[in-house]
Amino acid sequence: MARDRGRSSGGAEQGGDEFVLVALGGMGEIGMNAYLYGYGPAKARNWLLVDLGITFPEGEFDPGVDVILPDLRFLEEDRASLSGIVLTHAHEDHVGAVIDLWPRLEVPIYATPFTAGMLKAKAAEFGGRMKLPINVLPMGGRTQIGPFEIELITMSHSIPEPSAVAIRTPAGLALHTGDWKLDQTPFVGDPPDERRLETLGGEGVRALICDSTNAMRDGRSPSESDIASSIAKIVKAAPKRVAITTFSSNVARIKAVADAATASGRTLVVAGRAMHRVIEVARETGYLPEDFRYVDQQQFKYIDRSKVLLLCTGSQGEPRAAMARMADNDHPDVQVAKGDLVVFSSRTIPGNEKDVGRIQNAFVRMGCEVLTDAEALVHVTGHPRRDELKQMYQWIKPELAVPMHGEARHIRAHAELARAAGVPEVMPAYNGEMVRLAPGPAAIIDDVPVGRLFRDGRLIVSSIEGPVRDRRRLAIAGICVVALVMSDRGEVLADPEIVLDGVPEKDADGEEMYDVVADAVDGALDSMPQKRRKDVETVREAVRRAARAAIGSAWGKKPVCKVLISVIDD
Ligand SMILES: [Zn+2]
Ligand SMILES: [Zn+2]
Repeated sequence: MARDRGRSSGGAEQGGDEFVLVALGGMGEIGMNAYLYGYGPAKARNWLLVDLGITFPEGEFDPGVDVILPDLRFLEEDRASLSGIVLTHAHEDHVGAVIDLWPRLEVPIYATPFTAGMLKAKAAEFGGRMKLPINVLPMGGRTQIGPFEIELITMSHSIPEPSAVAIRTPAGLALHTGDWKLDQTPFVGDPPDERRLETLGGEGVRALICDSTNAMRDGRSPSESDIASSIAKIVKAAPKRVAITTFSSNVARIKAVADAATASGRTLVVAGRAMHRVIEVARETGYLPEDFRYVDQQQFKYIDRSKVLLLCTGSQGEPRAAMARMADNDHPDVQVAKGDLVVFSSRTIPGNEKDVGRIQNAFVRMGCEVLTDAEALVHVTGHPRRDELKQMYQWIKPELAVPMHGEARHIRAHAELARAAGVPEVMPAYNGEMVRLAPGPAAIIDDVPVGRLFRDGRLIVSSIEGPVRDRRRLAIAGICVVALVMSDRGEVLADPEIVLDGVPEKDADGEEMYDVVADAVDGALDSMPQKRRKDVETVREAVRRAARAAIGSAWGKKPVCKVLISVIDD
């Protein structure tokens, strides 16, 4: 593919200080955000990491993987050059990898009170005795981190305390927006600091690194307050129980649901540990009132059917969360039944459609009414649509635009929008491509190693050479194990033992697959002179090939084959 951008070091004098950006995650995908800003000469840069998030596996392609984390190899090689990590907000795609990966970096973390509170609560639950060195900054706060002068700018999004980060260096100022939208009535927290954004534009912004999620959607996104009044109406009109699920981190939505309960004389019941954790942090940081009241799920059974409003986790179809368990009629404390209303106050993240659809269908079969954002105003995006992006470009007037937080199609749409908005330089880049922001002109000047790690049970493993690659093969074609006992003179001392897992029992003619393998193993052993059978590795390979080929011709698929040989001296 032809590139319309230079890959050169022209424009900066040899060895001079440069201001650069490279995404270790987040450019070319929505998720796993990890943006690395650098300042200094090519051989001795100082780094600042903005966000350190996760992304989710895609079911059968990553069997058994819990979450996906960015590969920080590039930083780990020279971690003394990393000055700190700034977190823009507490969504998992921005902070979800901190607990797993911080021990590899051991640098100070900077975050606002709610984000810090969420991280500490999670570390207390999952991080053992890990003590994260979090420096709490106020909203709109400033601090110096290495050569970077940092200023947070209050934005609105779908979680409290989203911040854009203004990064000042001697080479110029970059504004990293984080996730944002323009919501003047965000329902909790302050509206975006539009005046500060405008002032920054007046100061002269070299580069705007901006959210691309909704760059293909026209117009402006509705306000969180519109959703709150819509939910209140829906709850009021419902005759029986109402169960609402949303992203547990959306405190405004939690408050909207609580207000709807109060307005309709219902008791709020909260089910799901993640929801409890968020409510606790939101109370501590003032985003929910101290006396925010709800009852625990054990009280559910005592409340009249028309007087209950159930708020639960599991909007993405997570199998262990409250929604999935209610759909299977398998929850110990909370239930819905025919005539009840179930509301998905959420968007289904791509990849989760099947799980969410299964649950919604189960509720419909039960006789519940199911409302999603396709039928009613029950959810709104937290990301800027095209008119909001244009407004941002008008305020900031950057010399250079670098779209982030998007797949290729979002990044391209955003780049076109930025050009149309009159931005002189637009530099689309993907994970691992190092962009020189200043001194200009912008260019891709280097490639750094990037990749993905898997959280696999309690361990972090490689996505490429790790165990998940083997599991993919096992998932597709099963395994055949053959165990042999031989003497050191090459005699076979017992009938081979054969284990087949994930392989059909019989072939199309009804012959047992076990016999197919046993014949193949005997054939392979018989055809080898005893002298050659003294070499264990030769036997192993011959038997493995024979078993695999025999199953292959009987089945049309070849399983993983393992041959275990015990050699007995005599
Ligand atoms: Zn977010
Ligand atoms: Zn995000």
